[in-house]
Amino acid sequence: MAGRRLAEWGDVDVTGTAQHEAWQQKALPPVERLRPDLWSIPVPMDGPLRYVSVYALALDGGGLGLIDTGWQSDASWAALTSGLASIGGAVEDVRGVLVTHLHFDHLGLAERVRQASGAWMAMHPADAAIVGSAPMRDPARFIESEVDFLVSLGADPDEAAADVGPVESVAAFTRMAVPDRLLEHGELADLPGWSLRAVHTPGHTPGHLCFAEERTGLFFSGDHVLPRISPNISTTPTGSPDPLKDYLDSLAAVRDLDPAEVLPAHEWRFRGLDDRVDQLAAHHEQRLAELLAAVRAHPGSTPWQLAAHLTWARPWDQYERRMRIFAVTETDAHVRLLASRGLVISSGGPVPTWTLAVR
Ligand SMILES: [Zn+2]
Repeated sequence: MAGRRLAEWGDVDVTGTAQHEAWQQKALPPVERLRPDLWSIPVPMDGPLRYVSVYALALDGGGLGLIDTGWQSDASWAALTSGLASIGGAVEDVRGVLVTHLHFDHLGLAERVRQASGAWMAMHPADAAIVGSAPMRDPARFIESEVDFLVSLGADPDEAAADVGPVESVAAFTRMAVPDRLLEHGELADLPGWSLRAVHTPGHTPGHLCFAEERTGLFFSGDHVLPRISPNISTTPTGSPDPLKDYLDSLAAVRDLDPAEVLPAHEWRFRGLDDRVDQLAAHHEQRLAELLAAVRAHPGSTPWQLAAHLTWARPWDQYERRMRIFAVTETDAHVRLLASRGLVISSGGPVPTWTLAVR
């Protein structure tokens, strides 16, 4: 899942030109061979991002490794399996799966891949803990914790329940695979022939991983750095207390890696990681300034109220359901960073309101 489109392009060079052309034609890009032993397979998904790029890696000694798996649906499964067939493989050949983060478009098909292949599946412990947590294994508890969280941000309970939706709509989220292996920051993935080092990049999720390939200089960026949109950075019931601070720190941590090419999980491959990181950081600073002005103009507001005072891609009163949840939790992430910078203070209590700090 990701958020807003950025206004300007800057010095980011598109290297995934077939992907970029397909995007402009609203088509699914082709399966591409990126290196003799590396392919990208677009797996379609619901929503405006259209597809996840699953990376398939040929391993020394035979078999395949995957980075991410795709959204869980029969159509996505068909795209993944036919994509593997088109490169001369099959899902049964998969020996290991690296999942960048716990979101449905990345982890969704992991259980099906694991059952078909017997492959191991690895994630960062922080995301593994969330996937395995009680609210994430039980749809009713999942709904309850989401609604309670929105109420704590200032939502009316009925509106929050309507935005979160019925139990059936979240059931699939609560059946996602729990990993059988954990990968900490700096560890090498167990994919023979590759030197994929895990780079912990919390922010989009607490356990988001990028992978820096040391042999080729490729950087698999997951949703941490995408070429066109700014990944959604939101507070969640089970997540970090200050995810935007985490995210900006994680951007700074990868800025100067100077990879040969960035291979993101959505959109298209590109070069110019440092410039893209600068654009994303600048975007958040702009957003923080806008929010600070909103707190100044409307002291004593909840994140729910503040979100209505910010500019969005469309008029605020047309926002509803999951879009409104993303907007309000994203506003909350920004207000918490303003608080950790000492610029705003919270009233405390079960539904905190925010006011400028007296300096
Ligand atoms: Zn994603």
